[in-house]
This record gives sequence, structure tokens and C-alpha cells, in this order.
Amino acid sequence: MPFGSNNDNGDYVFFDSIMTTLLPFAVLPLNPATLDNLQQLGYLHMTPIQAASLPAALAGKDLIAQAQTGSGKTAAFGLALLERLNPRRFAVQALVLCPTRELADQVTVEIRRLARALDNVKVVTLCGGVALRGQRASLEHGAHIVVGTPGRVMDHLARGYLALDALNTLVLDEADRMLDMGFFEDIATVTKQCPPERQTLLFSATYPEGIEKLAQQFMRAPEQITVAPPATQSLIEQRFYEVTRPTRFEVVAKLLNHFRPESTLAFCNTKQQCKDLVTYLQQQGFSALALYGELEQRERDQVLAQFANRSTSILVATDVASRGIDIKELSAVINVDITPDPEVHVHRIGRTGRAGESGLALSLAALYEMGAVGKIEQYQHQASTWYQLEELVPTSTQPLLPPMVTLQILGGRKEKIRPGDVLGALTADAGYSREQIGKINVTEFTTFCAVQRDIAREAVQKLNAGKIKGKSVRVRLV
Ligand code: AMP
Repeated sequence: MPFGSNNDNGDYVFFDSIMTTLLPFAVLPLNPATLDNLQQLGYLHMTPIQAASLPAALAGKDLIAQAQTGSGKTAAFGLALLERLNPRRFAVQALVLCPTRELADQVTVEIRRLARALDNVKVVTLCGGVALRGQRASLEHGAHIVVGTPGRVMDHLARGYLALDALNTLVLDEADRMLDMGFFEDIATVTKQCPPERQTLLFSATYPEGIEKLAQQFMRAPEQITVAPPATQSLIEQRFYEVTRPTRFEVVAKLLNHFRPESTLAFCNTKQQCKDLVTYLQQQGFSALALYGELEQRERDQVLAQFANRSTSILVATDVASRGIDIKELSAVINVDITPDPEVHVHRIGRTGRAGESGLALSLAALYEMGAVGKIEQYQHQASTWYQLEELVPTSTQPLLPPMVTLQILGGRKEKIRPGDVLGALTADAGYSREQIGKINVTEFTTFCAVQRDIAREAVQKLNAGKIKGKSVRVRLV
């Protein structure tokens, strides 16, 4: 299909002009029910990675595709694996390996969405941190698609709970990240148990050495797909500010008071810097939380839930910890430290300005970081635009507060609570409107529910006085 051409390195590069004349999904040989479903989902045109990879993926070719979170990569492999799936055959026909549980959960949600129009497609998530028994039961009830982390998938294979002999499609999602986390051997072990005549689709934001090794050992004449640069990038406004080491945090606060973004992802190069910045921002009255590697899964879930449901304004994260987070409508990204790796910079700023929305990417650089800024300029073929710190005046007398507040309900999946039960308690019983209630996340033992700030205290009282699923519950403000 003439969506692009091969460049000097032999990589497939998507035509720039196609990005402006977007292609509909109907040009692909997809099931009519799937095409209808895509319309209903509001997926009217293919994203560049989808247009570049779907023709080859649907033709059964192995692919190595360069794609990042937010590019629509999940649908790129999801549509391909669903097209080949036979829902009447009760066996695992596709396996998606992901580096983290968050990513696996997101991929599962997206595949279920894409499969809505097909008969009864069962998707099972297999990740660590959850009892094996429940996962084994889900597998016994019949799974067509498994999404999981390499370690846990291997565990199920070793115990004989999972069989891959009917597998058609193997997907390695965020392969670079899986290699970073030391999963090469686990991936190899799992892959060796897949039938040799399968299709293998590898997605990766960057191409470290290990990718080539994976391709050589486990793929058949893979086509390389590069979509450069991301289509949304032009909608991202980049502003650079020169700072000194002692004033860096102050400048972050000034940026927040000036631009007043509703949600900001702030990147630091180290865990310690994250902790220090969050302490500083909290002291200044901002609603900020930190996300870094060594948080326990439960803490991480809570931090992410609070940021995604708009009850925390600022998430301060390291690059590694932030990978795989898919948060829509991120108004700003702040590079508190400049990363020495220009690819990482592009990845960071690509978190804002998604799905055609404009985004703000603010970068702070001290003199000793100018070399790194230079590398970024070369990589992006774009000079940096510098702005004066004096321009950063507060634009409101009100503190910057997030629009929502999170309530925690003690009780989760174990108590069979579902989002609908909480919504019912707040709307039908407590009398609030749907618009006053935000995201509801049910985890194993606890449920987080966002509500508008002005009703938060009263909502806690009403829930504590009422019932969910016929039982009294304990509710508190997070
Ligand atoms: P991903 O990169 O797979 O995490 O996808 C990013 C987001 O884009 C997801 O929320 C998808 O639901 C959405 N998305 C994927 N493909 C399309 C499309 N063709 N049109 C509109 N939205 C899309």
C-alpha cells in the first residue's frame, strides 16, 4: 500500500502529506462489524502508525514498528489480531506481552473496546501482584486473547494453566521497556512455546540493541515501520526557560501560577529530585504527587488514580515510572530537568497535545544542561525558543486547585463493588447529577471515586449514611 516509502536505512517512512489527508479505516480489509464499531468509537481516521502498519499486519507479516503511547498503537496490533481470531474456537489465539500491569490493563480495555462488535471475545489479563487462582479460573472459562507481563505469563505456562499451541499472533508491546526491565529471557521462554508459524508484531518507542536480537531469534523477515515525526507534535508549543540550580523549583511554581494548567506531568531525572520537588510544591499549596520506581503497587495505583481523575494537579515523575501511563487531556508537560537523551525528550513532550488538542511543553535548563538542549535541537531539527522568567507573572489570585476530589470507599472487587453501584449510590440515592461525578476506579480492596470539589464533603457524609450493594460502607476523603 502506498502510504510511505523506504528511506536510506531501509525503514518504512510514512508520507508527510498523508498525515494531513487522513485515511479512513474503510480502505482496510476489515470485518464490516468492526468498521461500524470503529465509527461508533469515533475512530474516523487511522492514526499515522495505524495507516503505516495495518496493511502489512493484516496481510500476516511480522512487523517491528516504532510507536509510542498515545499514537494509537494498541489498535494497530489489536485490529490485526482480532481479524484473525475465531471466537468459536475456545483457545488462546493471541498473546500480548507488556512491561507493566498498567499497560496491560490499558491494552485489555482497548482490545475489549475494539472487539465489542464481535461475538463474545474473551480477553484475560495476567499480571503479577494478583492471586494466580482467579487468573487460572478465568483461563479455564476460556480465553481467546491473553494480555500480560512476561513473568506472570511464564508462571501460568510452567504450571500448565495456559497453553499457546493455538496461537496465531504474538505481540511484544513496548519491547524496549521490557528489555530495560530485564525481561529478555522471559520473553524468549514464552516465545519458544508459541507455534513457529505465528505472526509476531513488535512495538517499541526506541530501538536498543536487544530489539535486533529479538527480531533475529523470533521474527520472520520483519518489516520495519517508522512514523516520523508524530503528527501531534506540531500542536505542542515548546518553551524553554533558563534557570539556575537553586531557583529551579521556584520557576516550576511560577510556571504553574502563570499558565495554570489543569493537569501537569513534571519530569525529573532522579527519584530524589521528584521527592524534593513534590515536597516543595506541597509546601507552596499545590496539589502534587510523586511517582517513582520503588513505590508499592498499591501506592502507585492510588497516585495514578488521583491524577487521572483530575483530583491532583501535578504528577512529578521519573521517566521510567511514567512509562505506560495513558492520561488524556494533559494540559502541560514540564521538563524540570533536561534529559540527556533527546529521544526521551520527544517522548516526554508527546504526552501533551494528544488527539489533536494543543499542548504546552515547558523546559527548564541550567547552563550545564545546554549541551543536552543542543542535542535535542539537532534531533528535532528545530531551534529552541527561549522565554524570559520575568514574563511569568501569576494570572489569578486564586490558588491552583484541581477541579475534582477523590473519595476512597473501603471495599472493592473483593466485595463485588462495581463502578455502576457507586454511581447509583451518588446519583439515584444521594441525588447528584452524572456531571458532578468523575472517574470511578475499583481495585481489589478499595474504590476511588472522583467528585466535584464543591460537593466532596457532603458526598462523603451521604455515602457514609447510605448503602452500596445493600451494605453500609466506610468512605473518606483522600
Ligand atoms: P494508544 O497509543 O494505543 O495508547 O492509543 C491512544 C488513544 O488513542 C487511545 O485512547 C485510543 O482509544 C485512541 N485511538 C486509537 N486509535 C484512534 C483513532 N484512529 N482515532 C481516534 N482515537 C484513536
